[in-house]
Amino acid sequence: MNLFKFQQWTILPKIMTISLISVTVMLAATFAYYIPVTEHKIMEEKKLGTKNVVEVAYGILAQYDEMARTGAITQAQARGAAVESIKKLRYGAKEYFWINDLQSRMIMHPAMPELNGQNLRDYKDANGKALFRDFVEVTKKNGGGFVAYSWPKPGERTPVAKISYVKRYEPWGWIIGSGIYLDDVSNDILVLRVISTAGAVLFSILTLSMAYIIGNGITLRLGKVIGGLKEIASGKGDVDLTKRIAITSIDEIGILSTEFNGLMESISSLTSFKKVIEEDYTIDDVYSRLWDVFNREIGLSDCVIYEVDMYHNSMKPVYPLLVRDEDLDCSLDILPNAELCKAKKTGHTVNSLSYPHICKQFLSQDGNEHFCLPMSIGGGTVGVTQFVVQRPTGPAAREELERKVFKAEQYIKEALPVIETKRLMNTLRESALTDALTGLHNRRFLQECAEGICAGALRRGKLVGLLMCDLDYFKQINDSYGHNCGDGLLKLTAQTLKGSVRSSDLVIRFGGEEFLVVLIDVQQDQALEVAEKIRENVAAQKFRLDDGATLQKTISIGVSEYPRDSEGFWQAIKYADVALYCSKERGRNRSTHFDPSMWSAEQF
Ligand code: GH3
Ligand code: MG
Ligand code: MG
Repeated sequence: MNLFKFQQWTILPKIMTISLISVTVMLAATFAYYIPVTEHKIMEEKKLGTKNVVEVAYGILAQYDEMARTGAITQAQARGAAVESIKKLRYGAKEYFWINDLQSRMIMHPAMPELNGQNLRDYKDANGKALFRDFVEVTKKNGGGFVAYSWPKPGERTPVAKISYVKRYEPWGWIIGSGIYLDDVSNDILVLRVISTAGAVLFSILTLSMAYIIGNGITLRLGKVIGGLKEIASGKGDVDLTKRIAITSIDEIGILSTEFNGLMESISSLTSFKKVIEEDYTIDDVYSRLWDVFNREIGLSDCVIYEVDMYHNSMKPVYPLLVRDEDLDCSLDILPNAELCKAKKTGHTVNSLSYPHICKQFLSQDGNEHFCLPMSIGGGTVGVTQFVVQRPTGPAAREELERKVFKAEQYIKEALPVIETKRLMNTLRESALTDALTGLHNRRFLQECAEGICAGALRRGKLVGLLMCDLDYFKQINDSYGHNCGDGLLKLTAQTLKGSVRSSDLVIRFGGEEFLVVLIDVQQDQALEVAEKIRENVAAQKFRLDDGATLQKTISIGVSEYPRDSEGFWQAIKYADVALYCSKERGRNRSTHFDPSMWSAEQF
């Protein structure tokens, strides 16, 4: 920490320094200004008070003098009455008035009557001050004024510092005075000092403690957020994503903590989401989980996931699984032509809230908006997720909606690599298990699903019909019309075979011009009937040659039934092949059911 660069200081020293400065300023103001000024003010107020009461007493003298002037009483009576009434006057604790004349002779002193009649011209106080001369002096100029000296309090002997106000009553040549004892004022000042000092010290302690508690609280709570963020940013070790910060206030740090907890929540659910989908078996599981998150966690319930077939430039809704065409919010034109979908075409989010009527394909319903999020990877768009929402009613609802869509986007981003890998695997699997020429499944596919077919048949107590089919004299086609023509005929035969059986049955390209038809769940001897139907269909099919002429071919079929003819599935297939050989032997274009007599032990 560079002491001269305030920005580099941490928060606690900053707050403490600011508090220390304000405390210092406050203390300086209290001791250097407030206390002295107030002390002075107290003194001045006391003096003013004394002056005022002396003025009142002066008024009494003037009043009696006036009475004498009007002849109501004599001068002597007036003076005597004035002295008597002033002698009894008291104010404050035991403050009194005295009267002396211009020759410093005491006319009346209520606390020290022994002084009455005495000439005090040369009387000096403990400090050698000839106060009575000063009284005469001070009143000479302005008629009145303050004189400081020391004088004992009533009933006491020791003189204490005193300030008196004296005023001359000119007509009688009298001076009337009264004063305050400074130790009484000092008491008031002491009280002021003690209260002010205690207040200042208490304020300083409170300010510094509060500053420390607040600063330390901020530092501690911020420290936790920073620690958590550092842990995430470092990416080292296992980050504890369940970590949350206790929220103890609703100030900015409380908000920061709430946001941090929300961030942790998102990261944690995103991370666990990714882990889960990586372990999912099929791509549909991944779509289903994504859809679930949109629905339950984010609250975007009207959602359709489209998959794009980049090769055919088409798209189809893949989740929810049973979504009907009429339930889609888009024109069906986008399905065969994915380029019409703006999100697919541009690879950017298409949002009718920010740009009304942005996509012509959205069959807008009043009050509904759409957000179409492309699922883009490696420059291509492999899918589009569409959210349809009610138009938000205010800025807060709009912000909330945008937040939800942003969250959904994060989940899509997280799922994309997994979707891409699974799609690739599906494609690879598909290509490994299908025959490129006819589009039929190949022998490897049969190997993968044989176990399931057998188990199903045994469980249901049904038979599996196995028809081994081989075109008759196929070699001649190649020889006479060329290989391409042979390929065409193979494709046509594959279609004929597929068209002759139920969709639940399997047609496998077993070898060059050999096909195996697997009939699921047949009755006994029913397989031979299907074989006959196939044979007839193939014989009836017309293959059009380039020159317009047509060609017809026949097929020979060998039939067996699993598990009736053999307990082994592959053995049953072998038996169907044996039966096929018989059909060929017997003159071709016929179907033969396997019989054990066709099979000699040597052939094993
Ligand atoms: P048979 O009646 O005894 O079955 O006579 P065949 O001529 O059909 O039988 P053979 O086994 O002698 O000939 C099969 C021919 O099928 C040989 C091969 O050239 C041809 N063939 C195998 N696979 C393909 C293919 O993918 N395309 C084409 N065009 N011909 C193929
Ligand atoms: Mg053959
Ligand atoms: Mg053949």
